[in-house]
Amino acid sequence: MIKFDIITIFPEIFDSYFKESLIKRALDNRLIKINVHNLRKWAKDKHHTTDDKPFGGGLGMVMKVEPIYEAIKTIKKKGKIKVILFSPGAKKFNQKMAYSFSKLDQVILICGRYEGVDERVARYIADEEISIGDYVLMGGEIPAMIVVETVSRLVPGIIGKTQFLKERVTKGKGFVEYPQYTRPPKFFPKKFRRARPEVWKVPEVLLSGNHKKIAAWREEHGKIIEK
Ligand code: SAH
Repeated sequence: MIKFDIITIFPEIFDSYFKESLIKRALDNRLIKINVHNLRKWAKDKHHTTDDKPFGGGLGMVMKVEPIYEAIKTIKKKGKIKVILFSPGAKKFNQKMAYSFSKLDQVILICGRYEGVDERVARYIADEEISIGDYVLMGGEIPAMIVVETVSRLVPGIIGKTQFLKERVTKGKGFVEYPQYTRPPKFFPKKFRRARPEVWKVPEVLLSGNHKKIAAWREEHGKIIEK
């Protein structure tokens, strides 16, 4: 069973998110385990300080190295493990990484806040530094949710039948994401009646019942997300 350990100074951010839907069911069924740790627990001074002013000056605060070091020391178990630090400038998270993480025993996610994290965490403590995209957030908590969710859906049994996953994997290349439609077959709001009726139509082929043609259409219109 894959275990996620999230290190954050705002543990409550995760409360509602992990209590809903498929993640909740995965937790209930013990397919994954998620522990959210409050970093302050490992800050030894009486104010439980986890950040300090940057050396060399500058605006904002930097997250300290010692509490993170202590946290990892306690949390890290034995087995196939990755310690991940979230940084906006790092290499980008993708489906391929998610696949490799899904084979691990433990994934430890360090959420930065403020101006970021003391560089020694990236250099000596984390195994990998990742970004979820080319934009800057206020903290690593949403990135942690993204990694947990992306990795979890690759764990067998979490998204219903494993067939759901397999069906969309082509020739070992990855997932195919193609346009999807459901009932009703005809939906054409009055406001748009004059303009471009063709865009409102469900493609004929999808209603044809011809599985070969449907598969071809999906391949033609699909985008592969590499595995
Ligand atoms: N001063 C930093 C901003 C830090 S944002 C800079 O401009 O580079 C604070 C924290 O949010 C970061 O330490 C990181 O953990 C998280 N974060 C922000 N954007 C992110 C992104 N795109 N991907 C992953 N983590 C991000």
